[in-house]
Amino acid sequence: MPHPRTGFAALDQSHIAALSTLVGPDRASTKRADLELHARDQSFHPQRPPDLLLMPETTEEVSQIMRYANAYRLPVTAWGAGTSLEGNSIPVRGGIMIDFGRMNRILNVHPDDFQVDVQPGITRLELNKSLARYGLFFTPEPGANATIGGMIANNASGIKTIKYGATKDNVLRLQVVKADGEVIQVGTRARKDSSGYDLLHLFVGSEGTLGLITEATLKLAPMPQEFSAVLASFEDVASAIQAVVEIVGAGLEPTALEFVDKETVQALNTDKGLAFPAAPTVIMEFIGSGEGEGLQAAMDICKSCGATQWASARGTEERNKLWEIRHHTYESLVRQHPGMAQKILDVCVPVSSYPELVSYSDEVLKQHRLLGYKFGHAGDGNLHINIVHDPADDEHHERVEAANALIVRRALALEGTATGEHGVGIGKRQFMLEQLGPAVNLMRQIKDILDPHGILNPGKIFLDEG
Ligand SMILES: Cc1cc2nc3c(=O)[nH]c(=O)nc-3n(C[C@H](O)[C@H](O)[C@H](O)COP(=O)(O)OP(=O)(O)OC[C@H]3O[C@@H](n4cnc5c(N)ncnc54)[C@H](O)[C@@H]3O)c2cc1C
Repeated sequence: MPHPRTGFAALDQSHIAALSTLVGPDRASTKRADLELHARDQSFHPQRPPDLLLMPETTEEVSQIMRYANAYRLPVTAWGAGTSLEGNSIPVRGGIMIDFGRMNRILNVHPDDFQVDVQPGITRLELNKSLARYGLFFTPEPGANATIGGMIANNASGIKTIKYGATKDNVLRLQVVKADGEVIQVGTRARKDSSGYDLLHLFVGSEGTLGLITEATLKLAPMPQEFSAVLASFEDVASAIQAVVEIVGAGLEPTALEFVDKETVQALNTDKGLAFPAAPTVIMEFIGSGEGEGLQAAMDICKSCGATQWASARGTEERNKLWEIRHHTYESLVRQHPGMAQKILDVCVPVSSYPELVSYSDEVLKQHRLLGYKFGHAGDGNLHINIVHDPADDEHHERVEAANALIVRRALALEGTATGEHGVGIGKRQFMLEQLGPAVNLMRQIKDILDPHGILNPGKIFLDEG
């Protein structure tokens, strides 16, 4: 059923003038170049520039913007670093874009509690650079240098999720500006909190559709002094994936457990002048310098699953070399196919179903005559496939979308999810009813309570927003 919210007010000159005064003229822009910089994320969903860019510096400014936008029914989209992969930060209905880049301060470090209070616009790398002097770090590690606000809003995760959890597991408190401009606090700095409904986690992963995050308290972990890593190559994908399942099943505690298929290794070797064996590969990392129990047991499992070659690395430098193969996958694949688009699939299943998901994906790619590079956070059951296609060829694009839909549906049939970490955005809306059933109506009701005029990031998560 179409949602009754159909129209927004046009952002005319009087709105632009009034809103610009709220932040000052140097932090408001209608310049074409500024608007176009905020028209697309890193996906291939159609671009749409906002009508006005605002760069607030305080929670009070964000609150005033929201009060105004709510009163006049103006759409508002938040922007972190724009590295989303499902169209999450594209302002599909135009309107106001709030770029949090000026709210990028560390407010307090609480080293004894392993916590930090930050503004949302700080990036993960900036934050971790500043925390290094305390020997601490914020653990979620998506492949891009995302902002903390964008990571919380998308519930991002990455290579280290198998040990430290996703962003949702590492956020303790948020300050949120609601659609009507009211400022609320959700969560506390206490390690445990059973005070009623879990509003904190309502906002984590809400993609800027329920409220705007203006402060966060994050959990930190001690930076390990030493790492050791192993890269094991296998004859076939099935053996590599079996090793992943057995390592997880054995209760070993890697800090990372990644799968990279043969085609991806080949592409990375060519792009970066590396010489890793071109074969299905598992990369794992453990804390500690030597071949401690975990690492040795994991290597034994790889050997028993038929690993044909392995390389180990101790210490940060050696380990970083080994990780070259995984850390720059996206950029390397883009460089290998100039002028082509890459649809990045993101699905996640229980780890025991990972082998089935991977082999089914292979079949689908073959049936649809598509080139797809498979890799992912295998220890979490999270598979990515970069499918290469010609953006100007509609028929090619249709085959990609058909393959994507089949793989997502198989992930759902395996009791998994349509999106492990990239969020719903625009691209995964069509699967929400299938995944959530009637619970999607509850999500809609929550959205309507918190944002009755539907001004926050319209067109995302819900298909009924068109
Ligand atoms: C090369 C590459 C590799 C990647 N690897 C991974 C990976 O391994 N794991 C992973 O999870 N993701 C990955 N991503 C996706 C992306 O980095 C994450 O989704 C990230 O969380 C986006 O953060 P951002 O700061 O760029 O946010 P944006 O893209 O700007 O915004 C993301 C969402 O958050 C909302 N938002 C932003 N700031 C706020 C705020 N203050 N309050 C409320 N809402 C807000 C936006 O409206 C939007 O809905 C990758 C992307 C790229 C390009």
